[in-house]
Formats: sequence, structure tokens, C-alpha cells
Amino acid sequence: MVAKNKTIGILGSGQLGRMIVIAASQLGLRTHVYAPNANNSPAGDIAHERTEAHYDDHTALALFANNVSAVTSEFENVPASTMTFLAKHCVTSPGQAALHTAQHRIREKSLARDLGIKTPRFWHITDSFDLTNAMTDLGGDGILKTCQLGYDGKGQVRLSENDDLVDAFALLHTNDAILEEIVPFHAEASFLVARAIDGSLSSFPASLNEHKNGILARSFAPAALPDAVIKEGQAAVCALAEALDLVGLLALETFVTEDGRLLFNEIAPRPHNSFHWSIEGCETSQFTQLIRAVAGWPLGGTSCYGAWQMDNLLGEDMGSIDALANQAGLHIHLYGKAEALTGRKMGHTNKQINSESIA
Ligand code: AMP
Repeated sequence: MVAKNKTIGILGSGQLGRMIVIAASQLGLRTHVYAPNANNSPAGDIAHERTEAHYDDHTALALFANNVSAVTSEFENVPASTMTFLAKHCVTSPGQAALHTAQHRIREKSLARDLGIKTPRFWHITDSFDLTNAMTDLGGDGILKTCQLGYDGKGQVRLSENDDLVDAFALLHTNDAILEEIVPFHAEASFLVARAIDGSLSSFPASLNEHKNGILARSFAPAALPDAVIKEGQAAVCALAEALDLVGLLALETFVTEDGRLLFNEIAPRPHNSFHWSIEGCETSQFTQLIRAVAGWPLGGTSCYGAWQMDNLLGEDMGSIDALANQAGLHIHLYGKAEALTGRKMGHTNKQINSESIA
């Protein structure tokens, strides 16, 4: 177990890093944030120490590694070489296999398929000829996405048979893309598991998610889905975490169809926006659970205190903070970001919508 006065390193300085810092502090641990924009950032502002340097700066990384007992990352696009370097010095979360797989949509969907987890039909697209052939094969509408670095609906375009496929491919500005069938989903659900250094696993109750303009707007938990679907999603996320030998958190985003089929969309080996409700709603929040995992503590319980609703606060919602502050029972979390830009995640609120305890 990492001793109480030791330091947890965090790669990345956004809101997820900030909530990791808060959870670590609650357990008596120090934090050190490392990021190219660590100064004046949501996580950097409240960490005990910060290093502002690039992820390939091996001199700065060596100093950072010497100062920390374990390192975790708030995002999956940390260069693999950064984690390889850090892994020589200390416990790293989520681990190299998890990062490598989650960084690429073909790799993650292939792993899911190999584990027997159902996915939408997909094709690897490297030029407009691939796209034309795949669209013929698909025989309907599809969604073309960059394999890497897409988030919040960015780097993707919906396609129909009559669209100009050469233009569509050029607009993506990459030769590494994926075409997926459009899933006519009934709901989007996410699943989360924590895995400790000793391999023990602990699942969270699932979330049901609503998106607006490609950005998560609201989550409800525990997800009102049939037991069989919940069990299937939890088994899938556990199988993925084990296959990746992951330490920390793994989130799985899925589509649920009208007839109750669960389809893999993507994974994120880190805290997930759709589980922010766990801060007040769960016996152990996702952030505390991550710290427990990387610091070598036993994982905490994940029973939730009734049913919860989480709403994201974007830049355009910041005018309503005064009204929200007057609502009884509303837990407001703000990330301390200076500029309230449209579409920028500035905070979230958690609200208990049913107090009946669900084990
Ligand atoms: P992603 O970045 O892959 O999570 O996609 C962002 C959002 O686009 C998802 O949360 C869905 O609402 C939608 N979406 C992505 N892929 C598909 C798909 N194959 N079929 C239908 N909707 C999709």
C-alpha cells in the first residue's frame, strides 16, 4: 500500500485529473500533475506539485518518476513511449496494453470481437476505394470515424449511399479510419469496472446516457435495463479489463437495441463522465476507487444510495449557476475553468432522484 504521505502522479490536467486529485487528498495522499499545460489548469491548480512539460521530455519525466509512487492518466492518448518510460520506475495505470488498445478504434473493436462481445459491423478504411467497397458491403447508412484522437463526436461523419465518398474521406484528414454500421439504438449504456494490482475486480452500477451534439448531456444510474443486459455489460467490461491486464478503471460504452441486444461502442481506461454521479451516489466514487487501485488499497464497495441523475454543465449553461445554487439537494461540481466557451465542460450536477437504497 502506498504510504499516506506519498505522492500519486497524474498525467493530464483537466477536470478528470482534478477529481482524481480531490480523491487522493481525501485518502491522505499527495499528488503531482504532469501535463504540457499543467499551470493554471483544473488539476494543476489544486495538486501539491505540477510539472509543465511535454510527454516526450525524458528529463522532466525522470524527475517526475522519482517523485511519485504510482502514476495514473486522465486520458488515453498519452504516448505509449511515455508510459513505457514511467513503467520502469513505478506502478502505472491503466497500463500499456490498455492505452495501446483504447487509442485505436479498430484495435478495441477487434479485442471485443475476439472476446465474444458483440460489436456493430465495421471496416478498416485507409483510402476512398476501401470506403466505396465497404459502403457497398454495408448496403445502408454508415458512420465514418477517425481511428485515433476522436472524442465528443469529433472526427466522425454520417454517410448514406448517395454521398460523395471521395469528398467524405478527404474531409476526415486521415488515412486511418473506421466505417461502422449505424446502430438504431434504443439506449446508450455505459459500464465501469475497477481492477486492483492483485487482479481483483469491482463493478459499478451501470449508467444510461443521453447525448446532445455528440457531447454527453445527462446520465441516469442505476440504468433501468433488464437484468440480463446489465449482467452482459458488466461481464464484458470485466473480460476486457482482464484481457488488458489493466490496473485502475475501465469504462465501456455500449448501444442497447430495442430487442435487448448490447453492442460494444468504445472503451476508455480512465474515469468516465457518465459515472460522475458516483461522487455522491456510490459507497466509493469512481475517483476514490481509482486511487485505491493504484495505491494498492483494497477496492471499496460500490452499492449506490438510491437512483441518481448527473447533468453536465457546458459553457452555455453557466448563466444558470445562481438558480442551480438555490436548488435543495443538488450537488454542484465546478472545474475552475476560466473561460466558459460554448460546448466546453465546465462542471456537472448530481441529484438523487429516488432515495430507495439499491444494493
Ligand atoms: P463515439 O465517439 O464513437 O462515442 O460516438 C459519439 C456518439 O455518436 C455516440 O455516443 C452515439 O450517440 C453516436 N454513434 C457513434 N457510433 C454510432 C453507431 N455506429 N451507430 C449509431 N450511433 C453512433
